[in-house]
Amino acid sequence: MKKLGFGMMRLPLADPNDQSRPELDQVCRMVDTFLERGFTYFDTAYMYHEHQSERVVKQALVDRYPRERFLLADKMPMMELTGGTPADQERIFNEQLEKCGVDYFDYYLLHSLQSSHYETAQRLDSFAFLQRKRAEGKARHIGFSYHDSAALLDQILTEHPEVEFVQLQLNYLDWETESIQSRLCYETAVRHGKKVVVMEPVKGGRLARLPQAAEALLKSCHPDWSPASWALRFAAGLSEVLVVLSGMSDLEQLEDNTASLDGAAPLTPAERAVLDQALEQIKAATKIPCTACRYCVEGCPQHIAIPEYFEQYNIEKQVGRADRGVSLSCYNSLILSHGKASECVACGQCESVCPQHIPIIDWLKKVAETFEG
Ligand code: SF4
Ligand code: SF4
Repeated sequence: MKKLGFGMMRLPLADPNDQSRPELDQVCRMVDTFLERGFTYFDTAYMYHEHQSERVVKQALVDRYPRERFLLADKMPMMELTGGTPADQERIFNEQLEKCGVDYFDYYLLHSLQSSHYETAQRLDSFAFLQRKRAEGKARHIGFSYHDSAALLDQILTEHPEVEFVQLQLNYLDWETESIQSRLCYETAVRHGKKVVVMEPVKGGRLARLPQAAEALLKSCHPDWSPASWALRFAAGLSEVLVVLSGMSDLEQLEDNTASLDGAAPLTPAERAVLDQALEQIKAATKIPCTACRYCVEGCPQHIAIPEYFEQYNIEKQVGRADRGVSLSCYNSLILSHGKASECVACGQCESVCPQHIPIIDWLKKVAETFEG
């Protein structure tokens, strides 16, 4: 398998303010190009695009191509099963098969295990559920996606050796961080003999849009490589990585991503050294490490556009006051249809689900000071 997977979670939208309506014609063109170039792995989940991603997969992929032309991964939404029962798992799984229009998934995961969701999985006997689905032929390979420490990952893989792979947040920005622990998690998975599916290789797009100095440094080494290409090559070069998922949002990104991982060799030591230098510049320039995964958005009682506000804040702080009008006018446009940052009531729902462990409430205060002051 070529090592790039199409993450169906940041699809182009018919209306930029409506995540539930991906722009189907454009998604079809992207799917066509992806398959034409020899890539096969597609990744969706129950809650992506406000529960519509699976239906788009059916329309853009399943209804248009023979089943053997592609591999499809889907996930059990552990975040929606906190008060759930084992019967809910069965119901959701069957609903997913129906929404996607398939009889089986090639890869099936428990979605977003972290300590609280692992407790849910233990209570619902979710790992036995996975094994049952594998025995029934409805889930060909079983695993879980993961957002917590390497120590907990070690515990889960020790208690559940039956899984075949883990999906990890892995990118060069998080490789050595305390909060994400990409390297430690990767090494833990490898020690347990598991293959790794990489998510967030471009950190929600952050590693595609670098501070000027970092981008210039990378360009000086390889003028024809985009910043995203560096990030994908970093992840795909790891020997136990099965596939690198990229949540592509337009055809241009898809063409760049597929070109980057079409037979690419791992980064050389000299290229890694250049990337390390760029990394220092990126870390110095980025304030909020939000990946725009949107896990926090759905349950916000104030309908605050958390990732969009964080993106504008990061841009504002990166480019300095000369460009202030751009991010300020984006902010003013967003608050026409969303709660303002200052309207956060500190309920904490968002922080409890943020896989990046971002202190969202505190950062929203800073966003409000910056754009509403
Ligand atoms: S803490 Fe604020 S931003 Fe987070 S969910 Fe509650 S109201 Fe929304
Ligand atoms: S704040 Fe956290 S949960 Fe929300 S979009 Fe950013 S990374 Fe995802």
